[in-house]
Amino acid sequence: MKADLKGMTTHEIEEWAVSQGLTPYRGRQIRHWMLGRLAGSFEEMTSLPKTLRALLIENANISHLENTELLESKDGTRKYLFRLADGNHIESVLIPERDHLTLCISSQAGCAMGCRFCFTAKQGFKRHLTSSEIIDQVAQVKRSLDDPARLTNIVMMGMGEPLHNYYGTLKAVKNLIDQDGMNFSHRKITLSTCGLVPEMEKMGKDMTVNLAVSLNAADDETRTSLMPVNKKFPLETLMSACRKFPLPNRRMITFEYILIGGVNDSDGDATRLSRLLTGLRAKINLIPLNPYPGSPMAPPSEGKILCFQKILLNDNYTAIIRKSKGSDILAACGQLSGGVS
Ligand code: SAH
Repeated sequence: MKADLKGMTTHEIEEWAVSQGLTPYRGRQIRHWMLGRLAGSFEEMTSLPKTLRALLIENANISHLENTELLESKDGTRKYLFRLADGNHIESVLIPERDHLTLCISSQAGCAMGCRFCFTAKQGFKRHLTSSEIIDQVAQVKRSLDDPARLTNIVMMGMGEPLHNYYGTLKAVKNLIDQDGMNFSHRKITLSTCGLVPEMEKMGKDMTVNLAVSLNAADDETRTSLMPVNKKFPLETLMSACRKFPLPNRRMITFEYILIGGVNDSDGDATRLSRLLTGLRAKINLIPLNPYPGSPMAPPSEGKILCFQKILLNDNYTAIIRKSKGSDILAACGQLSGGVS
């Protein structure tokens, strides 16, 4: 089988180059062409000698996801649907912000976490993505842009639980931030988890990207009813992992809290949330629930959402109401299904 060079780390591609009788430098050069200059084929690598390009075509491969559909929302959000080589589908969502673009990428086809409010969970778990499938979402979206430099922020909040696919995610993160990789700033990459505690501890040692935790409830009973993962890692364990998480200066942990009418949106819930986060460098993103087709749950009224926010603001938290973009094309949080409906 031909080697897939796309997802290789610097070290791996250097080793591969040496195994082919090339210098480690050639490996790095090829990597820079793929990840930094977004070359889709060896033919495009014009600084390499022709004989070397021929050798690469013979012995190696640059894998690609197949972009099968592109939908654009009224608000400018774009949803890219990709087909994997084995026929599974994943989605990435490009979100326009005031002065830059943010790309939300997937880490798995489907998801095994089973959160009750999430459409991806409904599809069940298909498989982990390889690091090359994770970073190719970024490469392909960049290639489709008039000004690729505007894409500065990456959020790992698409389909799947990134920490369940720990090594695929770790390798992808390295490829995103390495200078001879895609050269993103680690400050502009955020990994969101439902709270897999052992992997959060590993992440604190292995990665320097931002951490977001999907909290969604401030008591164990409600959280377990929404997120089965809470049975294994209840709030006390999760919050203790958050308190121990090594945060560089001035960084905060983002806590995502979906507001669901009649479930977790009372004044008491807001007060409990405030207490739970006491002493943590925390930023709270309040996300009014995006219902998916057939979902029995609904977001609270506007008034209720503002009341909830006010309680947190009064306690001096940064609490932002995040209206998800792209809901008209099912591109908002919790609505990604890989084209299945
Ligand atoms: N598995 C990771 C990343 C994917 S979910 C995690 O759990 O964090 C990304 C975010 O979308 C999470 O914060 C999740 O709570 C939120 N989300 C899921 N379904 C949603 C829905 N129906 N409406 C609004 N937000 C939702």
